[in-house]
Amino acid sequence: MSDRKPLIAGNWKMNLDHQQAIALVQKIAWTLKDVDHDYEKVEVAVFPPFTDLRTVQTLLDADKLQLRLGAQDVSKHESGAYTGEVAGAFLKKLNVEYVLIGHSERRQHHNEDDELVRDKVAACFKNKLVPVICVGETLEELEAEGAAAVPVRQLTKALEGHKDIGDFVVAYEPVWAIGTGKVATSEQAAEVAKKLRQTIGELVSAETAEQTRILYGGSVKSANVAGFLASPEVDGVLVGGASLVVDEFTGICRFQKHVSL
Ligand code: PEP
Repeated sequence: MSDRKPLIAGNWKMNLDHQQAIALVQKIAWTLKDVDHDYEKVEVAVFPPFTDLRTVQTLLDADKLQLRLGAQDVSKHESGAYTGEVAGAFLKKLNVEYVLIGHSERRQHHNEDDELVRDKVAACFKNKLVPVICVGETLEELEAEGAAAVPVRQLTKALEGHKDIGDFVVAYEPVWAIGTGKVATSEQAAEVAKKLRQTIGELVSAETAEQTRILYGGSVKSANVAGFLASPEVDGVLVGGASLVVDEFTGICRFQKHVSL
């Protein structure tokens, strides 16, 4: 077992307005309180839409909830004439800790390429935000190159050329598993995570490789989470659809009940 603290991250995508966000966060927090969830042992973060962040931040502060706050994107720019974009400094002011970078839905629908992903990672480091760098192969890429080639290439690009590398998390999310109900095998997730860790070791340092958390994402549910987290290579999960369902998400947070670590 490694010293890395597991991270359960809920990506709400474009779901729930700020009032609905209050209800979901409260229910998650109450359910985890009822089962004495130890946040020191398993960290839990939610990634609501931008318009919910201030409300969720206020709720977490007021009720002293131990859930962590994440955003789903950030601008590569610091400030200025970039209509519609949100600066890292603004997120930092809202006590946002994590930012999803390079999610496959942004790569696909917003044409985010490896260079932009790299610049957004840089914006996170500059603002002391922790990027959750999302990498993953399509079905065609899986068939042509195997599972690890594309994730390793994407991570390499994302980590290239930074003057200062801060903390980061990597999320291995096979594109074909996101929102489809199909999942990678736990062996595949573990093997790709291992290769990603080797890549971090080569590009950054052995110490960073040892400390960095690598998550699996793609149709994770309470019923399948244990398989992924049984491997010491996988340090948590990035959850989409199931993060909107209280019993599902809190069941995933309690994965240790099903895994002997
Ligand atoms: C995601 O959005 O990162 C994700 C993994 O979605 P889902 O769990 O719905 O597949």
